[in-house]
Amino acid sequence: MRVVVTGGAGFLGSHLCESLMLRGDSVVCLDDLSTGRRGNVEHLLRKPGFEFFAVDVSGEFEVEGPVDAVAHLASPASPPDYLRLALETLAVGSRGTEHALRLADRHGARFVLASTSEVYGDPLVHPQGEGYWGNVNPVGPRSVYDEAKRFAEALTTAYRNKRGVNAGILRIFNTYGPRMRPEDGRVVSNFIRQALAGKPLTIYGDGKQTRSFCYVDDLVRGILAMLDSAEPGPINLGNPDERSMEELAGLVLRLTGSESGIEYLPLPEDDPVRRRPLTSLAQERLAWSPQVTVEEGLRRTVDWFGSLPQQVLLDPRC
Ligand code: NAD
Ligand code: UDP
Repeated sequence: MRVVVTGGAGFLGSHLCESLMLRGDSVVCLDDLSTGRRGNVEHLLRKPGFEFFAVDVSGEFEVEGPVDAVAHLASPASPPDYLRLALETLAVGSRGTEHALRLADRHGARFVLASTSEVYGDPLVHPQGEGYWGNVNPVGPRSVYDEAKRFAEALTTAYRNKRGVNAGILRIFNTYGPRMRPEDGRVVSNFIRQALAGKPLTIYGDGKQTRSFCYVDDLVRGILAMLDSAEPGPINLGNPDERSMEELAGLVLRLTGSESGIEYLPLPEDDPVRRRPLTSLAQERLAWSPQVTVEEGLRRTVDWFGSLPQQVLLDPRC
């Protein structure tokens, strides 16, 4: 297959590009490098079958040659990123998604949207199955991301129904692993960096809020299975092992052997209280389930962070 990956120089996108190349597919990576890094795909640049173009997919673009599948991952994803890039996030969720869908339509290609558990907002139903419609504040600070993804889901569904595009939707839950941008502000990158730098771990709120963390290799296997299928979704991808932020902090301290303390900071507005995916649909339709435990995944991620230069760990933006 020749697969177009938008957002291919980001955290998830670069792992997806790598896995596609490893199994023998060709990859066209499109990325405007707003939150991604060329360095994430540097090791692929000289490989035959890999092409990189610095493109903002919110503007018009074309891909020369055949396209068999489009994986649309382009979008800021961490809360500090999408709050800073509010208008760009809405643009890529709407116009960017439409351009990626049109590309798939023109080429008769499979299309997969990387949507998010954020479409469930601050959920009133727990755990979250795909049938739950969500509880999103349309004018809250997180709405630029949540509503962009909800619109992207509606657009993907309309292109499937009206234009016959072989399109599918994945709802991705919190994912972590090597190549997370160290200063992206997400909880896993913050805690690991802080622990390794001997700084206090910043818990927002009382730390009782929960998330369910999926290791990147598991997640990428799920994206590949979705690309290879004709499933419309939406299908949740995530690890149902639910942890509070207090538990996560304890785990990171144990795995790093750090003596850092804890600093409690205010909870951001509209921060969801709990989140855990139901993954039975992914199991049934994609034969997918996560394999890597949170302890093992965090250990691998700590090792990767530990290999970064010390000045990155001490970056004041942390
Ligand atoms: P990331 O920020 O590392 O990657 C996003 C990539 O998209 C970056 O390389 C960025 O430069 C690129 N990009 C952004 N706007 C673009 C544009 N207009 N044109 C071209 N490229 C653009 O984030 P990530 O964690 O790898 O997330 C990838 C996708 O998965 C996103 O769509 C995100 O919403 C979704 N997702 C991620 C998670 C997670 O926990 N990582 C959870 C749910 C959904
Ligand atoms: N969080 C935290 N400390 C941090 C960063 C985040 O306690 O340094 C909390 C945040 O308030 C949220 C959870 O960790 O409750 C997950 O945050 P993240 O930004 O990683 O993902 P999201 O909120 O998008 O699920």
